[in-house]
Amino acid sequence: MKLIDGKKISNIQRLKIKEEVYRIKSKTGTIPGLATILIGKDPASQIYIKSKIEACKHVGIRSFHHDLTENSSQKDIIDLIKNLNNNRDIDGILLQLPLPKNSYVQKCIDEISPMKDVDGLHPMNIGVLSLSKNWDEIIRKSVLISCTPLGIMYLLEQSNIKICGKTAVVIGRSNLVGKPISMLLLASNATVIMTHSKTKNLKEICKSADILVVAIGNPKFINKDFIKNGATVIDVGINRTHDGLCGDVDLDTVRNMNIKITPTPGGVGPMTITMLLENTLKAFNNRRKNSSQ
Ligand code: NAP
Repeated sequence: MKLIDGKKISNIQRLKIKEEVYRIKSKTGTIPGLATILIGKDPASQIYIKSKIEACKHVGIRSFHHDLTENSSQKDIIDLIKNLNNNRDIDGILLQLPLPKNSYVQKCIDEISPMKDVDGLHPMNIGVLSLSKNWDEIIRKSVLISCTPLGIMYLLEQSNIKICGKTAVVIGRSNLVGKPISMLLLASNATVIMTHSKTKNLKEICKSADILVVAIGNPKFINKDFIKNGATVIDVGINRTHDGLCGDVDLDTVRNMNIKITPTPGGVGPMTITMLLENTLKAFNNRRKNSSQ
């Protein structure tokens, strides 16, 4: 088993972002800005938001944090989003999920300007992504892509994992991870199989994967019986257990296999935050490009 060091790859990328932010500041006198919104006091969300704000500080991106109470109405959240859409200092808006009331998540996301949608969840960004024929087109259109899938693509690229022609199996079909990573792998010419909780013969299907992406949120659910020797495994899961954080893959059972795998923590997680910084920079550049046309 060889670990894919997400922290190391992420640190190298953050250094590049820091240099780019410095260059923008020296050249234009402006600094990219990210607004974060946290509704309520979910402890995990508080930790994620803190890491995101710290990451911004580290690379020189301005962050503007907004706390709303758990009792905030849909209108309160949308009013804030509209304000941020019109604020010229803000390039990206991140609404920390999950929201206390799940019923209006999409309505709130729909209100974020697609140009500032650094989480890549607005229907317009998802639409452009799904209509893109290949990776080059995705890059050319400067579409904002959900941070975790984008981070996975970076990890694969930086680890020299070839995607074209490979069989990729994705477990999980969420809008945040499963669906967009499937589209990105498809755009990179993998043969993609999407699976979920109703999939029959999951083990056999997973065994066919050259690249296995696991995003289910079930601690250590995937063991060696699901994995082919020689495969690359991307474990997206972050599960809090009595023994600390762990992924969806049971690392102890795969140690002796000839595979590459991302650990939890230290795999996909750091890349997700780095891609948020990358997307903020992209949103900044897209806005400047659009206003100069
Ligand atoms: P989600 O919205 O809860 O989706 C989970 C998906 O897994 C669903 O599609 C579900 O199938 C499928 N699933 C659940 N149990 C399954 C099983 N036994 N067999 C096959 N499929 C199964 O979760 P998510 O937002 O995608 O997140 C997944 C995990 O990744 C969580 O642990 C989350 O914390 C983590 N995560 C990590 C990062 C990061 O930065 N590292 C970012 C985002 C999420 P159905 O659709 O049929 O219900």
